[in-house]
Amino acid sequence: MDLKSLIRDIPDFPKPGIVFRDITTLLRDAKGLRYTIDLLKQRCVDANLTVDYVVGMESRGFIFGTPLAYELGAGFIPVRKPGKLPSAVHSIEYQLEYGTDCLEIHQDAIQPDCKVLIVDDLIATGGTAAATAKLLQLCGCNLVGFGFIIELRDLNGRASLPNVPIISLVEY
Ligand code: IMP
Repeated sequence: MDLKSLIRDIPDFPKPGIVFRDITTLLRDAKGLRYTIDLLKQRCVDANLTVDYVVGMESRGFIFGTPLAYELGAGFIPVRKPGKLPSAVHSIEYQLEYGTDCLEIHQDAIQPDCKVLIVDDLIATGGTAAATAKLLQLCGCNLVGFGFIIELRDLNGRASLPNVPIISLVEY
């Protein structure tokens, strides 16, 4: 199946000069959605990944991370924007093009030494995924890999990630 044909390009969103890769058109396609999750799972199996937990970032990481966790027989843990998680959190600040952003995870979400896969819809500069990896370090767990639906190769986001398998299904 040609996943790219299900991803819509929106020019000049969220600002002029940016081409936004819109996955809502993929999500609403029943066969495309099933194929995406099945392929992501297969790529994890092919990479011999053992996964106790999938960690997904707000908000599109939730959409793909939860069904993948279900398929892998793993649990799902959300990483959220500040102030959303109700119990004690670890926080990490990271650089954006202009300014900083922050992500949080529940301190007691993951027991040390568990094997964790980070999932998001898209990797661009890698800042979001690298920050999530740092959050997992604070939890003391083992990062076993990253899974993305889309990778923007020109931005070389994978260079800023730790040295574990990086799975992406579609490249631009
Ligand atoms: P990074 O931190 O620069 O790698 O950006 C990745 C984050 O930005 C992910 O959480 C994506 O959901 C979001 N993102 C950036 N560009 C796009 C896009 O074109 N489509 C969908 N999400 C995007």
